[in-house]
Amino acid sequence: MTDKKRPYNSFEMAQQQFDRTADLLELDEPVRDLLRQPLREYAFAIPVQMDDGTTRIFRGFRVQHNDARGPGKGGIRFHPHESLDTVRALATWMTWKCAVVDIPLGGAKGGVICDPHDLSRREQERICRGWLRQVVRNVGPVRDVPAPDVMTSGQHMLWILDEYEAIKGGHYPGFITGKPVGMGGSLGRKEATGYGVVFTLRELLKELGMQAKDTKASVQGFGNVAQYAIELYQQLGGTVTCVSCWDQKDRASYAYRKAGGVNLDELRGMADAFGGIDREKAKAAGYEVLDGDDWLAQEVDILIPAALENQINADTVGKIHEGVKIIAEGANGPTSPEADEVLAARGIQVIPDFLANAGGVTCSYFEQVQCNMNYYWTRDEVLGKLDLKMTEAFIAVSDLAKAKKLTMRDAAYVIAVDRVVQACRDRGWI
Ligand code: NAD
Repeated sequence: MTDKKRPYNSFEMAQQQFDRTADLLELDEPVRDLLRQPLREYAFAIPVQMDDGTTRIFRGFRVQHNDARGPGKGGIRFHPHESLDTVRALATWMTWKCAVVDIPLGGAKGGVICDPHDLSRREQERICRGWLRQVVRNVGPVRDVPAPDVMTSGQHMLWILDEYEAIKGGHYPGFITGKPVGMGGSLGRKEATGYGVVFTLRELLKELGMQAKDTKASVQGFGNVAQYAIELYQQLGGTVTCVSCWDQKDRASYAYRKAGGVNLDELRGMADAFGGIDREKAKAAGYEVLDGDDWLAQEVDILIPAALENQINADTVGKIHEGVKIIAEGANGPTSPEADEVLAARGIQVIPDFLANAGGVTCSYFEQVQCNMNYYWTRDEVLGKLDLKMTEAFIAVSDLAKAKKLTMRDAAYVIAVDRVVQACRDRGWI
Protein backbone atom coordinates (compact mmCIF):
# COMPACT_ATOMS: atom_id res chain seq x y z
CA MET A 1 0.00 0.00 0.00
CA THR A 2 1.08 3.51 -0.76
CA ASP A 3 1.27 4.82 2.83
CA LYS A 4 3.49 2.12 4.31
CA LYS A 5 6.99 3.41 3.57
CA ARG A 6 6.17 6.97 2.56
CA PRO A 7 9.04 7.16 0.03
CA TYR A 8 7.88 10.60 -1.19
CA ASN A 9 8.27 13.83 0.70
CA SER A 10 5.09 15.83 1.20
CA PHE A 11 6.96 19.00 2.17
CA GLU A 12 8.81 18.96 -1.16
CA MET A 13 5.41 18.55 -2.79
CA ALA A 14 4.01 21.54 -0.87
CA GLN A 15 7.06 23.58 -1.89
CA GLN A 16 6.67 22.54 -5.54
CA GLN A 17 3.05 23.71 -5.46
CA PHE A 18 4.12 26.99 -3.85
CA ASP A 19 6.93 27.55 -6.41
CA ARG A 20 4.43 27.12 -9.22
CA THR A 21 2.18 29.77 -7.65
CA ALA A 22 5.14 32.07 -6.95
CA ASP A 23 5.90 31.95 -10.70
CA LEU A 24 2.27 32.70 -11.58
CA LEU A 25 2.28 35.67 -9.18
CA GLU A 26 5.83 36.68 -10.19
CA LEU A 27 6.89 36.91 -6.54
CA ASP A 28 10.36 38.19 -5.81
CA GLU A 29 13.06 36.20 -3.98
CA PRO A 30 12.63 37.43 -0.37
CA VAL A 31 8.89 36.69 -0.53
CA ARG A 32 9.59 33.20 -1.90
CA ASP A 33 12.20 32.60 0.80
CA LEU A 34 9.80 33.64 3.53
CA LEU A 35 6.90 31.49 2.38
CA ARG A 36 8.74 28.35 1.19
CA GLN A 37 9.79 27.59 4.78
CA PRO A 38 7.94 27.68 8.10
CA LEU A 39 8.52 30.68 10.35
CA ARG A 40 9.11 28.46 13.40
CA GLU A 41 9.38 24.75 14.14
CA TYR A 42 9.65 22.74 17.31
CA ALA A 43 10.73 19.09 17.51
CA PHE A 44 10.94 17.52 20.94
CA ALA A 45 10.94 14.40 23.09
CA ILE A 46 7.91 13.39 25.16
CA PRO A 47 8.84 10.99 27.96
CA VAL A 48 5.78 8.93 28.89
CA GLN A 49 5.31 6.51 31.72
CA MET A 50 3.59 3.46 30.28
CA ASP A 51 0.98 1.42 32.11
CA ASP A 52 3.51 -1.36 32.76
CA GLY A 53 5.79 1.06 34.62
CA THR A 54 8.39 1.43 31.85
CA THR A 55 9.18 4.81 30.24
CA ARG A 56 8.97 5.39 26.49
CA ILE A 57 10.19 8.45 24.64
CA PHE A 58 7.87 9.66 21.87
CA ARG A 59 8.85 12.30 19.31
CA GLY A 60 6.56 15.31 18.97
CA PHE A 61 6.36 18.29 16.61
CA ARG A 62 4.72 21.67 16.20
CA VAL A 63 5.38 23.76 13.11
CA GLN A 64 4.12 27.33 12.61
CA HIS A 65 4.34 28.07 8.92
CA ASN A 66 3.00 31.62 8.81
CA ASP A 67 0.94 33.78 11.17
CA ALA A 68 0.79 37.08 9.29
CA ARG A 69 -3.02 36.84 9.02
CA GLY A 70 -3.65 35.68 12.60
CA PRO A 71 -2.69 33.04 15.19
CA GLY A 72 -1.43 29.73 13.84
CA LYS A 73 -4.11 27.09 13.40
CA GLY A 74 -3.87 23.40 12.67
CA GLY A 75 -4.40 19.88 13.92
CA ILE A 76 -2.28 17.43 15.85
CA ARG A 77 -1.86 14.07 14.17
CA PHE A 78 -0.94 10.78 15.82
CA HIS A 79 0.65 8.48 13.25
CA PRO A 80 3.41 5.85 13.30
CA HIS A 81 4.94 7.37 10.14
CA GLU A 82 4.68 11.02 11.26
CA SER A 83 7.75 13.10 10.38
CA LEU A 84 8.88 16.71 10.65
CA ASP A 85 8.56 17.10 6.87
CA THR A 86 4.97 15.83 6.89
CA VAL A 87 4.12 18.32 9.63
CA ARG A 88 5.90 21.12 7.70
CA ALA A 89 3.81 20.31 4.64
CA LEU A 90 0.57 20.19 6.60
CA ALA A 91 1.40 23.50 8.36
CA THR A 92 2.09 25.12 4.99
CA TRP A 93 -1.21 23.88 3.57
CA MET A 94 -2.99 25.27 6.68
CA THR A 95 -1.70 28.76 5.84
CA TRP A 96 -3.18 28.55 2.34
CA LYS A 97 -6.38 26.93 3.64
CA CYS A 98 -7.17 29.71 6.15
CA ALA A 99 -6.37 32.30 3.50
CA VAL A 100 -8.50 30.80 0.73
CA VAL A 101 -11.62 30.84 2.93
CA ASP A 102 -10.54 34.25 4.26
CA ILE A 103 -10.54 33.57 7.99
CA PRO A 104 -8.15 35.57 10.23
CA LEU A 105 -5.80 32.69 11.09
CA GLY A 106 -2.38 31.45 10.01
CA GLY A 107 -1.04 27.98 9.37
CA ALA A 108 0.40 25.49 11.88
CA LYS A 109 0.39 21.76 12.47
CA GLY A 110 1.55 19.26 15.07
CA GLY A 111 2.12 15.59 15.46
CA VAL A 112 3.42 12.73 17.51
CA ILE A 113 5.07 9.60 16.15
CA CYS A 114 2.89 6.93 17.74
CA ASP A 115 0.17 4.43 16.95
CA PRO A 116 -2.79 4.91 19.29
CA HIS A 117 -4.04 1.43 18.34
CA ASP A 118 -1.24 0.12 20.60
CA LEU A 119 -1.71 2.60 23.45
CA SER A 120 -4.13 2.59 26.36
CA ARG A 121 -6.39 5.56 27.02
CA ARG A 122 -4.19 6.66 29.95
CA GLU A 123 -1.02 6.40 27.83
CA GLN A 124 -2.63 8.55 25.13
CA GLU A 125 -3.63 11.08 27.81
CA ARG A 126 -0.02 11.25 29.06
CA ILE A 127 1.24 11.81 25.49
CA CYS A 128 -1.23 14.68 25.06
CA ARG A 129 -0.23 16.31 28.35
CA GLY A 130 3.48 15.77 27.58
CA TRP A 131 3.08 17.26 24.10
CA LEU A 132 1.49 20.39 25.59
CA ARG A 133 4.17 20.78 28.26
CA GLN A 134 6.83 20.86 25.54
CA VAL A 135 5.14 23.60 23.50
CA VAL A 136 3.29 25.58 26.15
CA ARG A 137 5.58 28.61 25.76
CA ASN A 138 4.92 28.78 22.04
CA VAL A 139 1.19 28.14 21.68
CA GLY A 140 -1.96 29.75 23.09
CA PRO A 141 -5.23 31.42 22.03
CA VAL A 142 -3.42 34.42 20.53
CA ARG A 143 -0.38 32.48 19.24
CA ASP A 144 -1.24 29.08 17.89
CA VAL A 145 -4.44 27.09 18.31
CA PRO A 146 -4.39 23.28 17.87
CA ALA A 147 -7.21 20.94 16.80
CA PRO A 148 -7.75 17.21 16.09
CA ASP A 149 -6.49 15.46 12.97
CA VAL A 150 -5.79 11.86 11.96
CA MET A 151 -6.18 9.52 14.96
CA THR A 152 -6.83 12.32 17.46
CA SER A 153 -10.25 13.38 18.75
CA GLY A 154 -12.11 15.84 20.96
CA GLN A 155 -11.01 13.79 23.95
CA HIS A 156 -7.33 14.31 23.09
CA MET A 157 -7.99 18.05 22.71
CA LEU A 158 -9.63 18.20 26.12
CA TRP A 159 -6.62 16.60 27.82
CA ILE A 160 -4.36 19.13 26.08
CA LEU A 161 -6.65 22.01 27.10
CA ASP A 162 -6.82 20.76 30.68
CA GLU A 163 -3.01 20.68 30.90
CA TYR A 164 -2.78 24.18 29.40
CA GLU A 165 -5.35 25.57 31.84
CA ALA A 166 -3.63 23.89 34.79
CA ILE A 167 -0.31 25.52 33.83
CA LYS A 168 -1.83 28.94 33.01
CA GLY A 169 -4.29 28.93 35.91
CA GLY A 170 -7.51 29.95 34.18
CA HIS A 171 -10.06 28.94 31.57
CA TYR A 172 -8.97 29.36 27.97
CA PRO A 173 -11.51 27.42 25.89
CA GLY A 174 -10.43 29.37 22.77
CA PHE A 175 -6.97 27.78 23.01
CA ILE A 176 -8.03 24.59 21.30
CA THR A 177 -10.80 23.61 18.93
CA GLY A 178 -12.56 20.37 18.08
CA LYS A 179 -13.51 20.06 21.75
CA PRO A 180 -16.52 17.95 22.70
CA VAL A 181 -19.86 19.78 22.61
CA GLY A 182 -20.71 20.92 26.16
CA MET A 183 -17.02 21.44 26.91
CA GLY A 184 -16.62 24.49 24.68
CA GLY A 185 -16.98 22.60 21.42
CA SER A 186 -19.17 23.81 18.56
CA LEU A 187 -22.19 22.01 17.26
CA GLY A 188 -21.53 21.05 13.64
CA ARG A 189 -17.74 20.67 14.10
CA LYS A 190 -17.71 16.90 13.70
CA GLU A 191 -19.61 17.17 10.41
CA ALA A 192 -17.81 20.32 9.23
CA THR A 193 -14.94 18.97 7.14
CA GLY A 194 -16.90 16.24 5.38
CA TYR A 195 -19.92 18.49 4.81
CA GLY A 196 -17.60 21.26 3.57
CA VAL A 197 -16.18 18.88 0.95
CA VAL A 198 -19.71 18.21 -0.27
CA PHE A 199 -20.73 21.90 -0.23
CA THR A 200 -17.93 22.54 -2.74
CA LEU A 201 -18.81 19.38 -4.69
CA ARG A 202 -22.46 20.49 -4.87
CA GLU A 203 -21.38 23.85 -6.34
CA LEU A 204 -19.17 22.18 -8.95
CA LEU A 205 -21.95 19.77 -9.94
CA LYS A 206 -24.22 22.81 -10.43
CA GLU A 207 -21.62 24.44 -12.69
CA LEU A 208 -21.28 21.25 -14.73
CA GLY A 209 -25.05 20.90 -15.05
CA MET A 210 -25.02 17.60 -13.16
CA GLN A 211 -27.40 16.39 -10.43
CA ALA A 212 -26.00 14.60 -7.39
CA LYS A 213 -28.77 11.99 -7.67
CA ASP A 214 -27.46 10.90 -11.06
CA THR A 215 -23.89 10.43 -9.81
CA LYS A 216 -21.83 7.74 -8.13
CA ALA A 217 -18.76 8.17 -5.94
CA SER A 218 -15.92 6.12 -4.53
CA VAL A 219 -14.29 7.22 -1.28
CA GLN A 220 -10.92 6.54 0.31
CA GLY A 221 -11.01 6.61 4.12
CA PHE A 222 -13.79 5.96 6.60
CA GLY A 223 -12.81 8.38 9.38
CA ASN A 224 -14.23 11.73 10.37
CA VAL A 225 -13.95 13.41 6.98
CA ALA A 226 -15.10 10.47 4.86
CA GLN A 227 -18.10 9.51 6.99
CA TYR A 228 -19.63 12.98 6.97
CA ALA A 229 -18.82 13.55 3.30
CA ILE A 230 -20.67 10.31 2.52
CA GLU A 231 -23.55 11.35 4.81
CA LEU A 232 -24.23 14.68 3.07
CA TYR A 233 -23.54 13.36 -0.44
CA GLN A 234 -26.09 10.59 0.16
CA GLN A 235 -28.57 13.15 1.52
CA LEU A 236 -28.18 15.03 -1.78
CA GLY A 237 -29.13 11.79 -3.55
CA GLY A 238 -25.67 10.52 -4.59
CA THR A 239 -24.65 6.85 -4.42
CA VAL A 240 -21.36 5.74 -2.86
CA THR A 241 -20.43 2.37 -4.32
CA CYS A 242 -17.01 1.85 -2.75
CA VAL A 243 -15.17 2.76 0.46
CA SER A 244 -11.51 2.01 1.12
CA CYS A 245 -9.98 1.99 4.60
CA TRP A 246 -7.86 0.06 7.05
CA ASP A 247 -8.80 -3.36 8.26
CA GLN A 248 -9.07 -3.35 12.06
CA LYS A 249 -6.84 -6.39 12.47
CA ASP A 250 -3.97 -6.35 9.97
CA ARG A 251 -4.14 -2.55 9.34
CA ALA A 252 -3.65 -3.01 5.63
CA SER A 253 -6.16 -1.18 3.48
CA TYR A 254 -9.00 -2.80 1.55
CA ALA A 255 -11.80 -1.45 -0.60
CA TYR A 256 -15.37 -2.48 0.20
CA ARG A 257 -17.76 -2.43 -2.74
CA LYS A 258 -21.53 -2.78 -3.02
CA ALA A 259 -22.88 -2.16 -6.51
CA GLY A 260 -26.20 -0.67 -5.34
CA GLY A 261 -24.41 1.59 -2.88
CA VAL A 262 -22.86 1.17 0.55
CA ASN A 263 -25.01 1.48 3.64
CA LEU A 264 -23.46 4.21 5.81
CA ASP A 265 -25.10 3.18 9.08
CA GLU A 266 -24.14 -0.45 8.52
CA LEU A 267 -20.48 0.47 7.88
CA ARG A 268 -20.48 2.82 10.88
CA GLY A 269 -21.71 -0.10 12.96
CA MET A 270 -18.62 -2.07 11.89
CA ALA A 271 -16.06 0.76 12.20
CA ASP A 272 -13.75 1.40 15.16
CA ALA A 273 -12.81 4.82 16.55
CA PHE A 274 -9.96 5.10 14.00
CA GLY A 275 -12.15 4.51 10.95
CA GLY A 276 -11.04 0.91 10.47
CA ILE A 277 -13.47 -1.81 9.38
CA ASP A 278 -13.46 -5.51 10.22
CA ARG A 279 -13.28 -7.06 6.75
CA GLU A 280 -14.81 -10.37 7.85
CA LYS A 281 -17.90 -8.49 9.07
CA ALA A 282 -18.00 -6.50 5.82
CA LYS A 283 -17.84 -9.72 3.81
CA ALA A 284 -20.64 -11.22 5.90
CA ALA A 285 -22.75 -8.10 5.21
CA GLY A 286 -22.42 -8.67 1.45
CA TYR A 287 -19.53 -6.34 0.60
CA GLU A 288 -17.00 -7.37 -2.02
CA VAL A 289 -13.55 -6.96 -0.46
CA LEU A 290 -10.99 -5.60 -2.96
CA ASP A 291 -7.39 -4.41 -2.83
CA GLY A 292 -7.04 -1.03 -1.05
CA ASP A 293 -6.12 0.96 -4.18
CA ASP A 294 -9.13 -0.41 -6.10
CA TRP A 295 -11.25 2.48 -4.84
CA LEU A 296 -9.57 4.45 -7.65
CA ALA A 297 -10.59 2.02 -10.39
CA GLN A 298 -14.34 2.15 -9.78
CA GLU A 299 -16.76 3.12 -12.54
CA VAL A 300 -17.94 6.31 -10.84
CA ASP A 301 -18.25 10.03 -11.61
CA ILE A 302 -16.60 11.28 -8.43
CA LEU A 303 -13.61 10.27 -6.33
CA ILE A 304 -13.27 11.53 -2.75
CA PRO A 305 -9.83 10.82 -1.29
CA ALA A 306 -10.27 11.32 2.48
CA ALA A 307 -7.46 9.31 4.08
CA LEU A 308 -3.83 10.45 3.71
CA GLU A 309 -1.36 12.25 1.45
CA ASN A 310 0.05 11.05 -1.88
CA GLN A 311 -2.63 8.45 -2.62
CA ILE A 312 -3.13 9.61 -6.23
CA ASN A 313 0.42 9.59 -7.56
CA ALA A 314 2.44 8.65 -10.63
CA ASP A 315 1.95 4.93 -9.81
CA THR A 316 -1.78 4.99 -9.09
CA VAL A 317 -3.21 7.74 -11.33
CA GLY A 318 -3.46 5.36 -14.29
CA LYS A 319 -5.95 3.23 -12.34
CA ILE A 320 -8.59 5.96 -12.37
CA HIS A 321 -11.61 4.89 -14.42
CA GLU A 322 -12.28 6.80 -17.65
CA GLY A 323 -15.72 7.85 -16.39
CA VAL A 324 -14.38 9.90 -13.48
CA LYS A 325 -15.13 13.61 -13.91
CA ILE A 326 -14.47 15.11 -10.48
CA ILE A 327 -12.05 14.61 -7.62
CA ALA A 328 -13.04 16.34 -4.38
CA GLU A 329 -10.00 16.22 -2.12
CA GLY A 330 -11.08 15.60 1.48
CA ALA A 331 -7.58 14.61 2.62
CA ASN A 332 -4.62 16.96 2.74
CA GLY A 333 -2.21 16.49 -0.16
CA PRO A 334 -3.79 13.34 -1.63
CA THR A 335 -2.60 14.12 -5.19
CA SER A 336 1.04 14.43 -6.23
CA PRO A 337 2.07 17.16 -8.73
CA GLU A 338 2.84 14.46 -11.39
CA ALA A 339 -0.63 12.96 -10.99
CA ASP A 340 -2.12 16.47 -11.09
CA GLU A 341 -0.72 16.95 -14.59
CA VAL A 342 -2.29 13.68 -15.75
CA LEU A 343 -5.65 14.67 -14.25
CA ALA A 344 -5.54 18.10 -15.94
CA ALA A 345 -4.70 16.47 -19.30
CA ARG A 346 -7.64 14.09 -18.87
CA GLY A 347 -9.97 17.01 -18.10
CA ILE A 348 -10.81 15.74 -14.61
CA GLN A 349 -11.86 18.65 -12.39
CA VAL A 350 -10.08 18.65 -9.04
CA ILE A 351 -11.47 20.61 -6.09
CA PRO A 352 -8.15 21.12 -4.30
CA ASP A 353 -7.63 19.93 -0.74
CA PHE A 354 -7.08 23.26 0.96
CA LEU A 355 -10.36 24.56 -0.48
CA ALA A 356 -12.45 21.36 -0.32
CA ASN A 357 -11.51 20.41 3.25
CA ALA A 358 -11.42 23.95 4.67
CA GLY A 359 -14.78 23.34 6.40
CA GLY A 360 -12.97 21.92 9.43
CA VAL A 361 -10.83 24.93 10.10
CA THR A 362 -13.66 27.32 9.25
CA CYS A 363 -15.83 25.66 11.87
CA SER A 364 -12.87 25.68 14.28
CA TYR A 365 -12.74 29.42 13.75
CA PHE A 366 -16.48 29.58 14.53
CA GLU A 367 -15.77 27.54 17.67
CA GLN A 368 -13.15 30.07 18.76
CA VAL A 369 -15.55 32.94 18.11
CA GLN A 370 -18.22 31.23 20.22
CA CYS A 371 -15.70 30.51 23.00
CA ASN A 372 -14.61 34.14 23.02
CA MET A 373 -18.25 35.29 23.26
CA ASN A 374 -19.07 32.51 25.73
CA TYR A 375 -22.28 32.09 23.72
CA TYR A 376 -22.99 29.12 21.48
CA TRP A 377 -24.88 28.92 18.20
CA THR A 378 -27.31 26.21 17.12
CA ARG A 379 -26.16 23.46 14.72
CA ASP A 380 -28.22 25.01 11.91
CA GLU A 381 -26.62 28.42 12.50
CA VAL A 382 -23.12 26.92 12.41
CA LEU A 383 -23.72 24.81 9.30
CA GLY A 384 -25.53 27.70 7.57
CA LYS A 385 -22.55 30.01 8.13
CA LEU A 386 -20.20 27.23 7.03
CA ASP A 387 -22.13 26.65 3.81
CA LEU A 388 -21.98 30.38 3.03
CA LYS A 389 -18.21 30.59 3.63
CA MET A 390 -17.43 27.45 1.62
CA THR A 391 -19.71 28.43 -1.25
CA GLU A 392 -18.23 31.94 -1.46
CA ALA A 393 -14.70 30.55 -1.45
CA PHE A 394 -15.56 27.94 -4.11
CA ILE A 395 -17.17 30.53 -6.39
CA ALA A 396 -14.18 32.90 -6.08
CA VAL A 397 -11.78 30.08 -7.00
CA SER A 398 -13.92 28.73 -9.81
CA ASP A 399 -14.46 32.22 -11.30
CA LEU A 400 -10.72 32.93 -11.28
CA ALA A 401 -9.96 29.50 -12.77
CA LYS A 402 -12.36 30.20 -15.65
CA ALA A 403 -11.23 33.80 -16.17
CA LYS A 404 -7.50 32.95 -16.24
CA LYS A 405 -7.81 29.42 -17.70
CA LEU A 406 -6.19 27.89 -14.61
CA THR A 407 -6.88 24.63 -12.83
CA MET A 408 -8.86 25.09 -9.62
CA ARG A 409 -5.73 24.19 -7.65
CA ASP A 410 -3.73 26.96 -9.31
CA ALA A 411 -6.58 29.45 -8.89
CA ALA A 412 -6.99 28.58 -5.19
CA TYR A 413 -3.24 28.95 -4.68
CA VAL A 414 -3.17 32.32 -6.44
CA ILE A 415 -5.95 33.67 -4.19
CA ALA A 416 -4.50 32.25 -0.96
CA VAL A 417 -0.82 33.08 -1.53
CA ASP A 418 -1.70 36.58 -2.69
CA ARG A 419 -3.65 37.23 0.55
CA VAL A 420 -0.77 35.97 2.71
CA VAL A 421 1.82 37.98 0.75
CA GLN A 422 -0.35 41.08 1.21
CA ALA A 423 -0.53 40.51 4.99
CA CYS A 424 3.27 40.05 5.18
CA ARG A 425 3.73 43.27 3.19
CA ASP A 426 1.20 45.17 5.33
CA ARG A 427 3.13 44.12 8.43
CA GLY A 428 6.36 45.34 6.85
CA TRP A 429 7.98 41.89 6.88
CA ILE A 430 8.93 42.01 3.22
P1 NAD B 1 -9.33 9.72 10.59
O1 NAD B 1 -8.19 9.25 11.41
O2 NAD B 1 -10.65 9.96 11.26
O3 NAD B 1 -9.59 8.70 9.37
C1 NAD B 1 -8.59 8.31 8.49
C2 NAD B 1 -9.14 7.21 7.61
O4 NAD B 1 -8.19 6.89 6.59
C3 NAD B 1 -9.43 5.91 8.36
O5 NAD B 1 -10.65 5.39 7.91
C4 NAD B 1 -8.29 4.98 7.92
O6 NAD B 1 -8.68 3.62 7.91
C5 NAD B 1 -8.08 5.47 6.50
N1 NAD B 1 -6.78 5.16 5.92
C6 NAD B 1 -5.55 5.45 6.39
N2 NAD B 1 -4.62 5.02 5.53
C7 NAD B 1 -5.28 4.46 4.50
C8 NAD B 1 -4.89 3.84 3.28
N3 NAD B 1 -3.62 3.71 2.93
N4 NAD B 1 -5.86 3.37 2.44
C9 NAD B 1 -7.16 3.50 2.78
N5 NAD B 1 -7.57 4.07 3.91
C10 NAD B 1 -6.66 4.54 4.75
O7 NAD B 1 -8.84 11.04 9.85
P2 NAD B 1 -9.69 12.26 9.31
O8 NAD B 1 -9.79 13.27 10.38
O9 NAD B 1 -10.92 11.76 8.64
O10 NAD B 1 -8.69 12.88 8.23
C11 NAD B 1 -8.55 12.32 6.92
C12 NAD B 1 -7.77 13.28 6.05
O11 NAD B 1 -8.43 14.55 6.03
C13 NAD B 1 -6.34 13.59 6.50
O12 NAD B 1 -5.56 13.88 5.36
C14 NAD B 1 -6.51 14.85 7.33
O13 NAD B 1 -5.30 15.60 7.44
C15 NAD B 1 -7.53 15.57 6.48
N6 NAD B 1 -8.31 16.60 7.16
C16 NAD B 1 -9.00 16.32 8.28
C17 NAD B 1 -9.76 17.32 8.88
C18 NAD B 1 -10.63 17.06 10.06
O14 NAD B 1 -11.36 17.98 10.47
N7 NAD B 1 -10.65 15.87 10.63
C19 NAD B 1 -9.77 18.62 8.32
C20 NAD B 1 -9.06 18.85 7.15
C21 NAD B 1 -8.33 17.84 6.57
